[in-house]
Amino acid sequence: MTKHILISGASIAGPALAWWLHHHGFRATVVERAPSLREGGYKVDIRGVAVDVVRRMGLLETVHAAATDMRGAAFVNKRGKQLATLDADTFGFRHGDDTEILRGDLARILHDATRANTEYVFGDWITGLDQRPDGVEVTFAHGAPRRFDLVVGADGLHSGVRALAFGPEEDHLRRFDAYISISTVPNTQRLDRWELLHSAAPGKMVNVYSTARADDAKAAFWFTAPPLSYDRRDVEGQKALVADRFAGLGWEIPALLAAMREADDFYFDPVCQIVMEHLSAGRVTLLGDAGYCPSPASGQGTSLALAGAYVLAGELAASDGFATALSRYEASMRPFIEKNQALAKTALRGIIPQSRAFAWFNTRMIKLMPYLPGRNRVLEQMARPIREAANALVLKDYA
Ligand SMILES: Cc1cc2nc3c(=O)[nH]c(=O)nc-3n(C[C@H](O)[C@H](O)[C@H](O)COP(=O)(O)OP(=O)(O)OC[C@H]3O[C@@H](n4cnc5c(N)ncnc54)[C@H](O)[C@@H]3O)c2cc1C
Repeated sequence: MTKHILISGASIAGPALAWWLHHHGFRATVVERAPSLREGGYKVDIRGVAVDVVRRMGLLETVHAAATDMRGAAFVNKRGKQLATLDADTFGFRHGDDTEILRGDLARILHDATRANTEYVFGDWITGLDQRPDGVEVTFAHGAPRRFDLVVGADGLHSGVRALAFGPEEDHLRRFDAYISISTVPNTQRLDRWELLHSAAPGKMVNVYSTARADDAKAAFWFTAPPLSYDRRDVEGQKALVADRFAGLGWEIPALLAAMREADDFYFDPVCQIVMEHLSAGRVTLLGDAGYCPSPASGQGTSLALAGAYVLAGELAASDGFATALSRYEASMRPFIEKNQALAKTALRGIIPQSRAFAWFNTRMIKLMPYLPGRNRVLEQMARPIREAANALVLKDYA
């Protein structure tokens, strides 16, 4: 009988896995807590082996057509004066076919590519997992209980499946004492595929950009802080928290904060990682941010999710039983996860300068870059760790 797999989460990892499960002859059901596909989010990168995964799905052209097509980025001071600029690919350390796309656009592409042969249930979530020798009895907040052969938690940083099968989030969290908030805002600066970055104060960074085909812009507020206590369901409270952190600062910050207050796709989360001793427990396994979030600072969350979906579905198809498949999935992914998670700490130091001197030095280096004698070598040295991590997985050809 066709194996029936339940996936929790319909963002990137979940629909990508549904695509590969269908490809290998499994039946997939995706349950998503949000009432419909979630739009919004930052621009995300698809790099290295993840590009190959998208190519193998036959979606690379569609993804390229939806790419942000950014021209570049400028660092500005509090009067809005451009201090240094960089072209988009250098700024994003992209290489070859690496692509940048809005998270919401990628989620839409993956959903469109899977909805004809995948059952999607929106507005519901798993409340209980009862593992039996021949399957998992699953209870839902709204729907009737159902039995599945395997359950995959692809439900992000705050995964409900992980909490049910592996215990509290806190036990698996690697904190960086930093936070990020992103909202869609009006494009009042008339940015045309262009990004502005402003180091507002030590430990506080703001960037705003508008991508191809967008009438609006995205504003991101990054800040460092010790662990904050706030209600994750209280969006207004989180908006107030961000506004409070950036109150009284210059440049366009007051207008961006006012626009953030009005945004209906406000996103706020700690910059942190998920580190699991094991990705699977019996017939329950984790995929993407739920199992190995590398943090937005690494720029690799989406690529890990896409590659993980390919490997998990492939190993399920190639192995005789779930236990073997899940242990092979973990063995393949573990070094790849570790290399990509290792990128975040250094990257974060560059994203949120902790002193005015560091911010000044950073901007100065970027400004002088075109005139440096060993420019290409320096850029190559900076890009190499990301390129190596993004390619640190060999994609097997699963039958
Ligand atoms: C709205 C949104 C905006 C984002 N913006 C950014 C960003 O700006 N920068 C960045 O680096 N990363 C962002 N991310 C995270 C980024 O998408 C991931 O790092 C990466 O793409 C891996 O995706 P994922 O599918 O593993 O996890 P996620 O993209 O986090 O998706 C998890 C999905 O599971 C759903 N979900 C959560 N809990 C449950 C539950 N209990 N039951 C069922 N479904 C559940 C969520 O609604 C979501 O659709 C965002 C995620 C979302 C959902």
